[in-house]
Amino acid sequence: MVKRAGIVGRTAVVTGGGSGIGRAAAILLAQNGARVVLADVDTRAGQETVREIRKSDGEAIFVRTDVSRAPEANRLMVATANKFGSIDILFNNAGIPGPHSVTETSEEEWDRVLGVNLKGVFLCSKYAIPHMMKKRRGAIVNTASAVGLVGSAGQAAYCASKGGVVILTKAMALDCAGLGIRVNCVCPGFVETPMVERFLAGIDASERGKVTESLKKLHPLGRFARPEEIAYAVLYLASDEASFVTGCAFPVDGGWTAY
Ligand code: NAP
Repeated sequence: MVKRAGIVGRTAVVTGGGSGIGRAAAILLAQNGARVVLADVDTRAGQETVREIRKSDGEAIFVRTDVSRAPEANRLMVATANKFGSIDILFNNAGIPGPHSVTETSEEEWDRVLGVNLKGVFLCSKYAIPHMMKKRRGAIVNTASAVGLVGSAGQAAYCASKGGVVILTKAMALDCAGLGIRVNCVCPGFVETPMVERFLAGIDASERGKVTESLKKLHPLGRFARPEEIAYAVLYLASDEASFVTGCAFPVDGGWTAY
């Protein structure tokens, strides 16, 4: 018999679940017996993930949500609790890039990137935790980044947002330790997702191959990750198997931050 992770029957909210890492994690959580609530600004993509999960007899619904807006984050958590009776797992994963240096970053871009990547984690956690407290049980996993652990040129707001997620993770872990709620984050290196595809497509075609190779070399393992490789770390941190792990920033970066 296949042993499944300790999340069977749990309710998991996955933000940014329509694409990339979020989609891979939602599918893996569902395969391991969780009921999944997909939240995304992209309705078509979110519903596609729901269809994918249901095709394999998994349970999933979609709630269109912009995580940077408090009423929408709250509505997501209320809708989840109304539908499934609890919130056991929150994967705060929705994120957007911010590919500019400090001087090139507009105030509007700064607010947008911090609004989704950092405030979105704060808001979804703020509104999910009271539901988790009712059962004195919960696991929150946030998507930070390797560039939340080390700096990277040309993405000031993005690095600031992800560094913020790392330390917010630790602060929340301490706030929630007595409530039966664990809080951790994953710190991926480059992952083959639509976000990275769009970034590479924006590079001049004559330079793209060279830039891609130099980015792969940031990772001692010599390549980008597949979304599933991040999803397995999320599955572990969300599951009972990680029952003594909280406040952890888990690099899943092919060795990038081991330098
Ligand atoms: P992705 O393929 O672009 O997926 C992100 C999803 O989140 C998209 O469906 C996106 O919709 C959605 N989203 C954007 N803003 C949102 C909002 N305000 N509320 C709800 N959903 C929103 O990106 P990914 O590469 O899987 O990235 C997932 C997370 O991993 C992000 O936090 C990212 O920063 C982080 N990360 C990625 C990498 C990487 O190399 N890919 C590395 C380290 C960390 P739209 O497409 O409509 O914007």
